Amino acid sequence: MNHKIACRRIVLIGAPGAGKGTQAKRLASTHQLAHISTGEMLRALVQSESAIGIKVRAQIESGKLVNDELVIALAADRLRQSDADRGYVLDGFPRTAYQAEMLDETLASADSRLDCCIHLRVDCEMIIERISKRSEIECRVDDLPATIRHRLAVFEREAAPLLEYYQRRDLLREVSGAGSLEEVAANIRRVLGQRRVAVS
Ligand code: AMP
Repeated sequence: MNHKIACRRIVLIGAPGAGKGTQAKRLASTHQLAHISTGEMLRALVQSESAIGIKVRAQIESGKLVNDELVIALAADRLRQSDADRGYVLDGFPRTAYQAEMLDETLASADSRLDCCIHLRVDCEMIIERISKRSEIECRVDDLPATIRHRLAVFEREAAPLLEYYQRRDLLREVSGAGSLEEVAANIRRVLGQRRVAVS
């Protein structure tokens, strides 16, 4: 069954392994939204083996965040593509309050704005379990245990101000990431069915 959702310009935030990528893809295909993952765009850049790709590879492999300017430019370009006009799910962007501010500026310059920011909440043990499974399947170098720890630390440091940013604008919705893929998808859909309440 295809449910109509009221919010179509969506940011999905979650710790590494929270299931954000899986849920973002599913949401995008179910509701004809563009799936915009800065992580995927950066991995494509790494594949290109350009000078910038080599630099990005080092940052990703060490679990660090890639510099704001590059990531903001990638996301802004992608948002200008026509498939994003129908709506989008931003997956892994913004990662910092500064990126969130820049995103708002980019959208405002095109007379647009976000509808909703979903925080997929999961506990630490579940994250480790999920990432271990993913590393077996996808062989991502940044899923190695030491890198995971670093990525979780980076998320914890950056997430609080980012979540606060969206909380202040009354865009933030908390969704439990525990449960099966279908259960979490249903939790997300429920939240997205609700129209945004306040205007920032
Ligand atoms: P992801 O696929 O979203 O888990 O991202 C994988 C890696 O790409 C992250 O650990 C970062 O190194 C980098 N990355 C992805 N999105 C961003 C972003 N918005 N800002 C900075 N670095 C990012």
